[in-house]
Amino acid sequence: MLYDVVVVGSGFSAIAVTINLLRAMPAGSSIAVVGDDAGFGRGTAYRTEFHLHRLNVPAARMSVFCDKADDFREWLAAHGRTADAQVFASRGDYGLYLRDRFATLLRERRQDVQIDFIKAKAARCVRHDNGGYSFQLATGNQLDAAAVVLCLGLGNADLPVSKQNRAGDRIVENPWRLNWLSHVQPDEDICILGSGLTMIDQVLALREHGHKGRIHVLSRRGLVPLPHASGGLTPAQPHLPEGRDISAILHGLRKQVKGGLDWRAVMDGLRPQTQALWQSLNAGQRSRFLRHALPWWNVHRHRLAPPVRQRFEALREAGTVSIHAGYLQTMDQTGERISVRYRKRGGRDMKDISVDRIVNCTGMERAGLKHSPLLLSMQESGLLRPDPLGLGIVVDALSRVCDGSGTAQPRLYAVGGLTAGQFWEITAVPDIRVQAHAVAERIAESAK
Ligand SMILES: Cc1cc2nc3c(=O)[nH]c(=O)nc-3n(C[C@H](O)[C@H](O)[C@H](O)COP(=O)(O)OP(=O)(O)OC[C@H]3O[C@@H](n4cnc5c(N)ncnc54)[C@H](O)[C@@H]3O)c2cc1C
Repeated sequence: MLYDVVVVGSGFSAIAVTINLLRAMPAGSSIAVVGDDAGFGRGTAYRTEFHLHRLNVPAARMSVFCDKADDFREWLAAHGRTADAQVFASRGDYGLYLRDRFATLLRERRQDVQIDFIKAKAARCVRHDNGGYSFQLATGNQLDAAAVVLCLGLGNADLPVSKQNRAGDRIVENPWRLNWLSHVQPDEDICILGSGLTMIDQVLALREHGHKGRIHVLSRRGLVPLPHASGGLTPAQPHLPEGRDISAILHGLRKQVKGGLDWRAVMDGLRPQTQALWQSLNAGQRSRFLRHALPWWNVHRHRLAPPVRQRFEALREAGTVSIHAGYLQTMDQTGERISVRYRKRGGRDMKDISVDRIVNCTGMERAGLKHSPLLLSMQESGLLRPDPLGLGIVVDALSRVCDGSGTAQPRLYAVGGLTAGQFWEITAVPDIRVQAHAVAERIAESAK
């Protein structure tokens, strides 16, 4: 069947695009949503059932609609939850909210718009001379589309070193498959690689599951995400220098903080300008930012809900969690244990930690295309090109995917983290919802 739009994916980006399409597409339109995850809309982020897996953005900024800022708070209030603007609601509740809003829209527009959900992995895509696309699904079926939105999310980063001997079956390469927790014995010692938000999530999930052993966290700098201010802060207008030199920009921001402003207010004030700032940097400046400033950016920018940070700090103070700063060298199976060897940061000393299990939490955002056979096949056939800095794929400022020759394709869009090369700040709800709305509006406009 030929659909007006095919949305590929099943996480937040896909549901945000589909919600906006349902609102905007003219009567008589058809939409197919192809996703390989039964929990449509919840994706990796919002399918969790752990209460301490909280949003890291206050409720006031989590509406799925750009034009109804308080929508999520209204949902929280209607469901008997705390609905303060600054509350960090549970991520599980956010998943329910998305599905509720989606179900309502579906009922409202059922007569006007045909929408089909196809649970399958899209394996290949070809472009036709008439400008349309066909998808080959892993089920063997084919699907034709006048317009396409790729909402594939990002893959998990590879392990930083290869696994040795038999250590492989004790290494959790993708912690988002939460069933790994059911294999963990309560007294196991665990080493988590990476010290960002994913690590925090996994530590809390382990404790929730009754884990009582020690947890070692190893990352190059040993930096852990910082907390939001309790009660919120008014964003401060950042002072940005004339030129677009990354060192001068960061120096200017530090100066404001030294001058007495709360760094969180400065970061929040910068946020509405981050995309434009990133777009104004040349490739060399962007690359310098990623090489030198990324770990600091991450811990200041992607902050934790205060109760989550408190819980984590308590585990640290009790000696349950230890943070190690250093460079992983080897992971070797020795008897029933794995020996993790790392070089301590700032020196040549080697240190060994002996654990029962390793969990790879080294991140997602720079995982490239390797994880996705669909993206790889599209690259091979010249339908897209990877971002030169490894930030997803090349899209133009309207989120249209550029083909191998760099030409933007008018009916092939991407939404979410895949477009970080163009937008940088495009992993959280407040940014993705704007992009999803803009893409849906464009598609609807051309379908009229
Ligand atoms: C743990 C976590 C917590 C977060 N917390 C917050 C928060 O509090 N606030 C906030 O604003 N943001 C948060 N974010 C960021 C943001 O909201 C998410 O990253 C967002 O959910 C991204 O959604 P996505 O749809 O782009 O990607 P994903 O959620 O990764 O979904 C992509 C989906 O596409 C499917 N897919 C991929 N390839 C194919 C294919 N070929 N065929 C079919 N289906 C395919 C995948 O199986 C997956 O289900 C969080 C992210 C994570 C990971």
